Amino acid sequence: MTESNFDQFGLDRQIVAGVKAMGYTTPTPIQQQAIPVVLEGRDVLGIAQTGTGKTAAFMLPILQRLMKGPRGTVRALVLAPTRELADQTYDVTRLLGQHTRTRAVTVYGGVSKLRQVEALRQGAEVVIACPGRLLDILADRDIDLARVEVLVLDEADRMCDMGFLPDIKRILQVLPRHRQTLFFAATMPDEIRKLADSILHNPATVQVGIVAPAATVSHAFYPVEAHLKSKLLAALMQATAMGRVLVFTRTKHRASKVARELGKLGHRVAALQGNMSQNARQAALDGFREGKFDVLVATDIASRGIDVTEISHVINYDMPDTVDAYIHRIGRTGRAAETGEACTFLTPEDEEMTRAVERVLPEKVERRWLEGFDYDAPPEPKGLPRPLGSRQRQPGHAPHVGHGERAQRREEAPRVGGRATNPERRGR
Ligand code: AMP
Repeated sequence: MTESNFDQFGLDRQIVAGVKAMGYTTPTPIQQQAIPVVLEGRDVLGIAQTGTGKTAAFMLPILQRLMKGPRGTVRALVLAPTRELADQTYDVTRLLGQHTRTRAVTVYGGVSKLRQVEALRQGAEVVIACPGRLLDILADRDIDLARVEVLVLDEADRMCDMGFLPDIKRILQVLPRHRQTLFFAATMPDEIRKLADSILHNPATVQVGIVAPAATVSHAFYPVEAHLKSKLLAALMQATAMGRVLVFTRTKHRASKVARELGKLGHRVAALQGNMSQNARQAALDGFREGKFDVLVATDIASRGIDVTEISHVINYDMPDTVDAYIHRIGRTGRAAETGEACTFLTPEDEEMTRAVERVLPEKVERRWLEGFDYDAPPEPKGLPRPLGSRQRQPGHAPHVGHGERAQRREEAPRVGGRATNPERRGR
């Protein structure tokens, strides 16, 4: 197998150091396609969702461009629909560019304008902005966009959905006509296609088709605080009839821990993670395939070799890092004519990835709360480990996954997906 890595792009050493610091080893498909053409200076029409690695796909070549040329003037402008996406893009830019002396500033509504203007006065090469506040600052003449060399429209379709099209057009008027434009959208309805056609010159189209997951899989999200995940897993497995179950965790350590905890509760369970010897991994896989274990707790990387049919449930104990990984994970269930269920635990921090996952699924995913489960239990005091699931349900309580009143109440509770609404979105 040819190992593909980031050296192939000829990026500056300082930028590659940032890539390493982020822990990226292999470019994602959108990065593989987009980085070379963006480096050539071409306009790009990128059809890709959040979760595909598109931020680095445009930001790495931008950082490469910024290594040469003047500092302290705005040379790259990224327009984003929401402050969450702007913040996320800012974080990636700062980390990837940590050895390059590049300065990035975010500009969006709902927070102090003065602070943003002061940050701009100190000089930045990259501005990541939501359209509303940017126009506001432009009107005050507190930003100069006359030397912008690259414009990125990120989630352009969502910006249009949110009514930002007139704002975008006004911003385009103050940008130099001679520039590179990178246009990203997850979907291409007519209005977006027209906008792209009107601003891109001879663009290279890059597209990552996220294959829609099998229709035989039903999806459910279980909102839960992070400290209650183990208990919820134990309770869910007790309350639901499951066949073969594959549980995914983000880290190797957690895979082992969750497997241990389930084992203590009497489940026939094995872990599958990268720290295990090849023999131990094979034994876990064989045991799972042959029915010696009903539950396998795996990390994404370790799970690559799993080819076991008849998996009834995939449980995402941790939300995966990318939409691709979600599709991959749940591709393990609902194979052929069988049906399967994908249950994903959602903590409030998973909100952005949740939206990204929902965008590739045909319908909004049902939020479920397990009846009888104590969602308000406080974290265990440190040093007093309590066996997993020891307190999860009143004896004799019928196991039942409810979507009734309690679910309704939880839907309204600010703690579940309860971030403040985006002020850029309000009143527009
Ligand atoms: P994005 O689509 O840009 O929001 O990226 C989604 C997630 O994938 C982020 O958490 C990135 O840090 C991560 N990511 C991006 N590129 C890579 C890569 N080449 N390898 C591993 N993770 C990546």
